Amino acid sequence: MRVLRVALYTLCVLALLGLGALVFLLKTHPTVRFPESLETKTSESVRTLFLGTSSMAWTDGQSTWLVDGFFSRQPLGNVVFTRLTVDEMQINAVTAEMFKRLNMPSALSGIVVAHSHYDHSMDAPFLAKQFGAKVVGSESTWQIAKGQDLPATQMELVPGRGRVKLGEFEIELIQSAHAPTGFTGGFNSKPVFLPAHALQFKEGISYSFVVSHPGLGPGPFALIQPSAGYVEGQNKGIAVKHVFLGMGGLGKLSEAYIEKYWQEMVMNTGASNVYLIHWDDFTQPLMKQGQSQALKPMPKLLDDLEKSLELLKMFSKRDGVNLQVLDAWQMVYF
Ligand SMILES: [Zn+2]
Repeated sequence: MRVLRVALYTLCVLALLGLGALVFLLKTHPTVRFPESLETKTSESVRTLFLGTSSMAWTDGQSTWLVDGFFSRQPLGNVVFTRLTVDEMQINAVTAEMFKRLNMPSALSGIVVAHSHYDHSMDAPFLAKQFGAKVVGSESTWQIAKGQDLPATQMELVPGRGRVKLGEFEIELIQSAHAPTGFTGGFNSKPVFLPAHALQFKEGISYSFVVSHPGLGPGPFALIQPSAGYVEGQNKGIAVKHVFLGMGGLGKLSEAYIEKYWQEMVMNTGASNVYLIHWDDFTQPLMKQGQSQALKPMPKLLDDLEKSLELLKMFSKRDGVNLQVLDAWQMVYF
């Protein structure tokens, strides 16, 4: 009898332990990172693929256009010590992956160039020739295009403020300002022939881009601010839901400056979604041995992403705005 009682008791304990383990397992959820792009929108909607710095590929499923398209991203040693040229192999690898992810044919209707520094303008003429696009930008950018033999018919000059139509998209260019980094100012007044040193690419005009699409209503829906600069009141009368906010060099500027920048770009446009761009170390490649790469922040010596990000997080919380840091190859749907 005693043996039977012990056996029954043991069975009960085991059953309870088993039940406990089952409950524990049922209540424990694995950590799964869902792909960002799995939102409610279909792949046919207006979308943009972020590609580091302020480079982005926009499409509505009909036509595709770029902001900047800087894909060469030469290593730091080359930037400092050598004269630069377009890295065609790297560009081909990046664009092949880009069109694949966009699910679009390899053609571009246009490339709007934020300003004429090499990390915005350098690859645009090559891309325009390769994919039949026109380059849109300042006279300073035109000189870079001339240096790469882009026909004048594929260049559209916008002196200050203007509009350009790329497929169904309409992009308004607004004269803005570069982040006060110490590398600003100057115009290219002669063709910039390659190879050329990074410092030979003079800023020219720094633009903001205001994007509209009839599929998303009559007014603009997005503002792209490639460089972390502003002209006071530049966005007067502009209301958008989405702001792509350039961060380059912001971490080395004062808190007052960063707050003013937030005010001009986000509060003054009434945006509810902010996507941070141009925060990455652009001497690192977007593709390596056929594999797409994640971005890395700028070395602390050059920028202080931790500081600027902390502040922007604080402002976004205070003002009830969604804030997202975009990584390379991340798609945003509208
Ligand atoms: Zn710049």
